[in-house]
Parts: sequence; C-alpha cells; structure tokens
Amino acid sequence: MIALSEPILGEDEKRALCEVIDSRWLTMGDRVAAFEKAFAEMHGVDEAVAVNSCTAALHLSLKALDIGPGDEVMVPSLTFVATANAVLYVGGSPVFLDIQSLEKPLISMEDAESKCTSKTKAVIVMHYGGYVADLEAWRSFCDAKQLLLIEDAAHSPAVAAVGRWSDASAFSFFSNKNMSTAEGGMVIARDSSVLQHVRQLRAHGMSTDTLTRHRGHAYSYDVTMLGYNYRMDELRAAVGLAQLPRLPSWNRKRQALSNLYRQMMADRIPEAMIPFDQDQETSAHLMPVLLPRGAERKNVMDQLRKDGIQTSIHYPPVHHFSYYQQNFPGIHLPKTEEFCGRELSLPLHPGMTQKDVIQVVETFRRAFHEQ
Ligand SMILES: *Cc1c(COP(=O)(O)O)cnc(C)c1O
Repeated sequence: MIALSEPILGEDEKRALCEVIDSRWLTMGDRVAAFEKAFAEMHGVDEAVAVNSCTAALHLSLKALDIGPGDEVMVPSLTFVATANAVLYVGGSPVFLDIQSLEKPLISMEDAESKCTSKTKAVIVMHYGGYVADLEAWRSFCDAKQLLLIEDAAHSPAVAAVGRWSDASAFSFFSNKNMSTAEGGMVIARDSSVLQHVRQLRAHGMSTDTLTRHRGHAYSYDVTMLGYNYRMDELRAAVGLAQLPRLPSWNRKRQALSNLYRQMMADRIPEAMIPFDQDQETSAHLMPVLLPRGAERKNVMDQLRKDGIQTSIHYPPVHHFSYYQQNFPGIHLPKTEEFCGRELSLPLHPGMTQKDVIQVVETFRRAFHEQ
C-alpha cells in the first residue's frame, strides 16, 4: 500500500517522548518554549506561539487581530473547512473567493477586488498544496484597502516567503502535514503585541502562565479576557523539536518527488493536468492532478485503491458543505467548482522513493485508461 501521506517517526521521537515522561512536567514547559523559539528562527522571526491545532491558531489570530461580529473576511472555498470555520468562531462572515484558474488554484485578487465592501476586514490566504501565493501582491492589496492579511500556512511551513508579509500566520502539525506533533499548531505575527494576546488567549486569558507560577515568579493570576484552553503540551513539543530540524530536507524531498511526478505524468498521461509550475516556490504538501472533463474520478480512485494506492480529493469546496449551503446559500464559484470536481491527490510524502512514484504513475495510467 502506498499511502497518501505518512509522517516520518523514529528513535528521536521515541527518546524525546521518554525524556518528557521522565521529567514529570507534561505541559507548557521548557520544551514548548524551545519549540516556539526553534520554529520562529526557522521562519526568520523573533517569536512564535504554540497551540494545540492550526484551527486554534486561526481562531486566536482572528481574535487577537480584533475581527468579530459585523466583519467580513475573504477566504478560499478550495481549502480545508477550518479556514472558514475560524471566521465563524469569532462571529465574522466568511466571503468565499474563487481561484485564479485551474492551473493556479489560489484565491483570485480580481475576485477579492470585486467582493471587497466597507465591512471587509481581512483576507485569509491559503497556500494550497504548499504553493505559495504572491504575498507581496496581497500585502499591497491589503495595505491599499486597509485590510488585515492572514495566512493559513497549514500546507507551507519552512518556505522562505511564508510568515513575512502577513499580520498573522497559522501552521499545522496534524499527522498528515509536512511535519507532525500528532495534533498541534503555531502562530507567528509581525506585531509582538498580537502574539502576546494569542499567548494569553490560549491559556484561559490568564495574566501569568503555569510555568511562571510554578517557578515562584508569580503567586496568583488575574483573568483579563475571555480565553480558551488551546495549549500545546510538552510531549507534542518534544516531538516537534525532533521533527523540525528535518523539515527543510523533507520539503526538498517532496519537491524532488513532485518534479518526478510532473515529468512522468507529462510523458505517460498527458491528458491529466498538474496545476502550478515546477519553479513556483512550494513545500510540496500535495500532489494534485486534474482529470480531463468527463473522466470518471470515482472509478479511477476505486481502481487505484484496489491496486494499493491511496488517493484523496483536496478539497470538496467549503461552500458546498450542507452547513455552509444552509447558512450561506446561493454561492457560485465556477473555477473552484470545476477544480474540485476534477481534482485528485496522489501519494506524496518524504518516505516515498522514486520507484514508488513510478509505480503510482503506471498504476494511475492503467486505472485512467480502464475507467
Ligand atoms: C489541516 C488544515 C487545517 C487544520 O489544521 P489542524 O491542525 O488539524 O487544526 C487548516 N487549514 C488547512 C488548509 C489545513 O490543511
């Protein structure tokens, strides 16, 4: 079986977990602080705040940037549902943007231009598949319209441009992402007061943290805002510290495998289209393929599964989910809908070999011609 994605876990992670257990300090301690510091350094910023998921990271970013009821936030529909859910958590209204094109499935600035109103407060950009949106252009767009720019960077950790242009960026360490802590997330932000706000929101809005009190630097605390329990624990941070140094080389391996897929697919199944260019900056989180119009995607996926190859769809469009259709009816995003109707994602993870890619492509070719 060639899995769609698979974390690389080994002795380093086991040792890191055992050390935490032996230390008898299980949450919000030195390892969380060290993980935050190392993650910030890798992204060229001074600090980062660890939380228990990217969903929490998005929620707290919006909250700390003071987005709330009455505010519209522009989001992709071609994303995981958490991007839009986070806007609803703070009482805002998501406004769904279409993608630029089937070849470039990132939110369209033209669509943003036409949907911007006096209520628009922010744009959430998501780097689909790890392919980085033009952040400099989005920054100018947001500056010109006085909007906040937020990145859902769940697919794109350790990519040069990510985290440098936005007001806040949210990362994921869920088990199928480019690095994992099982569950986990991180926030970075350009304004350190925003990060300070996120730090307090993740721990019940308390004015001092657990470790500070434990060390006797503070004997009590106040609660100065409505907070949450979105903390990261020491076990996860220890796994994160073991994973992080290998992330850049895993990203390179993913890129190399993606390039091989591109070459082989062009040669073996020219009917299928792979979005983006090979030279676009990417962490190569996904290997999306667009089947030709009219192809039987389900048959292709079923055949691949029988042949031991796992595939998936990234994504069913958010505006088509029942909950969203009931609450935000009548939305039509033609390019997103076509992309989502034809897309399938092939296995891509750094544990794969070139031989695996060749096997996937040959199996895909057979399944495609037999559909
Ligand atoms: C995985 C993912 C999330 C949610 O991450 P969690 O850490 O599972 O909360 C959000 N946005 C995108 C684009 C994702 O792929």
